[in-house]
Amino acid sequence: MRSTVRSWLKLPKDTSIAFFHAKAIDGGLSLPLPEHKISLMKQAKTARMAMSPDPVVCAMLETPATHKVLRAKQTSLNGTVVATRQGLRSVLAQQLHSLCDERGLATAPQVPAQNQWVTSGDMTLNGHTYIGAIKIRGNLVATAYQPHTDIRCNCCGNSESLGHILQTCPRTYASCIARHDKIVDQVRSGAERIGYGIRREPAIQTPAGIRKPDLVLVRDGDLTILDITIVAHNADLDKAHHDKSIMTSLPLESGPNHATSLGALPLRL
Ligand SMILES: [Zn+2]
Repeated sequence: MRSTVRSWLKLPKDTSIAFFHAKAIDGGLSLPLPEHKISLMKQAKTARMAMSPDPVVCAMLETPATHKVLRAKQTSLNGTVVATRQGLRSVLAQQLHSLCDERGLATAPQVPAQNQWVTSGDMTLNGHTYIGAIKIRGNLVATAYQPHTDIRCNCCGNSESLGHILQTCPRTYASCIARHDKIVDQVRSGAERIGYGIRREPAIQTPAGIRKPDLVLVRDGDLTILDITIVAHNADLDKAHHDKSIMTSLPLESGPNHATSLGALPLRL
């Protein structure tokens, strides 16, 4: 199954097994792992039967077939004993997130909805785009970087990893800006569709200086300030959010009438 999916998605041969079988919400592809799941299902079913008050069901536990299941060894994955389906999920996620190449996926479960596209069958992505997105998600795009070599970017001289190309190389600077602006545009158009009033990059004078958040959204008297940031795969997302929150915090009055408070600032929506 893995080799077929690897062929369909054009993934490299050294793609980790955990990437195939970890849940999509944990950063994987959610491929089933029947050799472990079937064993766990049998054990769970036998355990439920043992708790039944029905004498017929209890008698079934004495059959040779049930004894065989009860005697079966616990399933284990890479030396870790797995007793439940949740345990199997945890072991796969742990393996995936411990790999250097996929360490950025450790934060994938924090926002479950962002992982839906992997298994939803959403046809808004064509095959080529889907494969590219999967490769970037798993850090599986071929680059000059290799763990035990020191091949340098021929533009800036740093290690040419995917993270370097996507975030810091001067060669892709314009593309990074365009990517950020495209995401801001998508958020803006989505917010407009559901009735938000929008102001893009308003210059707001604050005691700490002028602030220009990407978007200010207002609806029903509530105001939301959005400043979108795209960080490296090894970044601390909570810290990135905290830093942005401080940068864009405004000395507005607390309370429900935020829009009125912002109205004191030079903003027209
Ligand atoms: Zn570079």
